[in-house]
Amino acid sequence: MAAIKTAIPTRRFDAVIVGAGGSGMRASLQLAEAGLNVAVLSKVFPTRSHTVAAQGGIGASLGNMSEDDWYWHMFDTVKGSDYLGDQDAIEFMCREAPKVVYELEHFGMPFDRNPDGTIYQRPFGGHTANFGEKPVQRACAAADRTGHALLHTLYQRNVRARTHFFVEWMALDLIRDADGDVLGVVALEMETGECMILEAKTTIFATGGAGRIFAASTNAFINTGDGMGMAARAGLPLQDMEFWQFHPTGVAGAGVLITEGVRGEGGILINANGERFMERYAPTLKDLAPRDFVSRSMDQEIKEGRGVGPNKDHVLLDLRHIGADTIQKRLPSILEIGHKFANVDATKEPIPVVPTIHYQMGGIPTNINGQVVAPAGDGSQKVVNGLYAIGECACVSVHGANRLGTNSLLDLLVFGRAAGNHIISQNLRARSHKALPASGADFALDRLNRLETSTGSEKVQHVANDIRSSMQKHCGVFRTDALLQEGVREIMKLDERRKHVSFKDKSKVFNTARVEALELDNLIETAKATICSAVARKESRGAHAHSDFPNRDDENWMRHTLWFSEGNRLDYKPVVTKPLTVETFKPKARTF
Ligand SMILES: Cc1cc2nc3c(=O)[nH]c(=O)nc-3n(C[C@H](O)[C@H](O)[C@H](O)COP(=O)(O)OP(=O)(O)OC[C@H]3O[C@@H](n4cnc5c(N)ncnc54)[C@H](O)[C@@H]3O)c2cc1C
Repeated sequence: MAAIKTAIPTRRFDAVIVGAGGSGMRASLQLAEAGLNVAVLSKVFPTRSHTVAAQGGIGASLGNMSEDDWYWHMFDTVKGSDYLGDQDAIEFMCREAPKVVYELEHFGMPFDRNPDGTIYQRPFGGHTANFGEKPVQRACAAADRTGHALLHTLYQRNVRARTHFFVEWMALDLIRDADGDVLGVVALEMETGECMILEAKTTIFATGGAGRIFAASTNAFINTGDGMGMAARAGLPLQDMEFWQFHPTGVAGAGVLITEGVRGEGGILINANGERFMERYAPTLKDLAPRDFVSRSMDQEIKEGRGVGPNKDHVLLDLRHIGADTIQKRLPSILEIGHKFANVDATKEPIPVVPTIHYQMGGIPTNINGQVVAPAGDGSQKVVNGLYAIGECACVSVHGANRLGTNSLLDLLVFGRAAGNHIISQNLRARSHKALPASGADFALDRLNRLETSTGSEKVQHVANDIRSSMQKHCGVFRTDALLQEGVREIMKLDERRKHVSFKDKSKVFNTARVEALELDNLIETAKATICSAVARKESRGAHAHSDFPNRDDENWMRHTLWFSEGNRLDYKPVVTKPLTVETFKPKARTF
């Protein structure tokens, strides 16, 4: 062990970004183009990051299809968030949206076009004109492959800007000094199993979500919550982790996502009686009500016996009336997904769908510059020097209790860029690196060593699968106190079991097995944060639907949850209800 510690090589950068998805590469581009020495680490090749799966679009009030306004976008986002989103951050994001989309267009992003050459925009859930009056087309789309187009555009620009990519490198833990400042990360080269210190004047987490803490998920296998795990182990809080979005249309039995863009293009949800049931639940927005609303309505239909299939456990998404030509032009991937995962030809048959875990609204708390903030002890929030978080692993918070579709890709671009600009304004090039503590890498290396030497009898996959099924059972679309309490007990037991995982044959450990074991430490931190925050919130708000507390409670719960791993402790901070320049949107009942 001592030998590993002394032999570990070090490389120095102005900025180290953990994650090469949309948020990481938007920030790295800003920094590299400004002449900073930037390293980006990724567990997978950058263009395979999970952003590649994003289908439907990027929200921005360009007004290409009909009149639109950033203020209407802000209203929809605040209402969509069930009033838990911070209104200063939401105003900032909605105002910046057209700028970041036009920037992308100039970077060469192949958006779909209108006949007049402007960017094509489609309708999406919860997007309205004139403060909820009628649906508006706000989602800027590249067919149903928007994330794919976005990642390739950003990767090519980054290569041109000379960003250093560390491909198939996994960050293990942060390095902090005695002042609590962040000085970089310890990382593992996945192919060789070798470790290195990546020393940085600034570190950015852009590690994406943790959808893999649930059994049925639209998320990629790499979404194991590594950023949250690293933050939690470094003593930092995780914010609003009880809020997880179920996407209404995961393919039943497979979990693969069918974009909301399908309903944007005219697709409708039907029950076993062939009834378009969303007309009853949301008379104005119908199938395009926000996701929490549609998911709960589907769940209700299934519970009341109007589900489809031998077990009456799903409903149908019907797009036959859209016409084969439009489906092929606007939704080619959906056609393919229908064939491959549901064995249906979507031009001729409806697709079986069910609400599926999709997106985490919570994450590492930040301000609108992307700087990580944590409670200072005197009730104030203090910036953690040298650490930023952006994208799905961060909570700024623009999504509050429920994200509007297309606002995540927007969040990546707006806050990736904002973090980059803030770092540039710090004049990093002129500053020298702070001295690394001699024991800076020990925490990460000890974690690795514990794995290598463990004689425990637990298997990584068994513990990981049990975490997933427990979270699925105890923390689903509808929650109850009894279920959540039982879930907390189970997850805590699984945390104990996790400490006893070991490799079967120590002389022959595959590096993929080592990576999965390291990811397990992150899965459990995220699962603990989620279930412990959920059991504490005694109300229903956005994606947190609590059957014992069916109403929203603005008097007691207009506050963000902060969960700390140490002592499994909870703290709270108020929602920012004051926007930057406009009037506050006051909480109202959410009807659509
Ligand atoms: C199927 C699907 C469709 C979606 N469609 C839309 C849409 O149309 N519009 C929209 O707004 N949103 C959409 N979303 C949500 C959106 O795509 C994601 O929230 C967003 O892409 C996340 O981007 P990110 O930059 O935060 O992280 P990701 O793109 O997930 O990238 C994370 C990066 O971190 C790296 N990483 C993680 N851990 C480590 C580690 N320990 N060490 C090194 N690297 C690490 C990974 O390798 C990867 O490069 C969709 C989501 C899904 C699942």
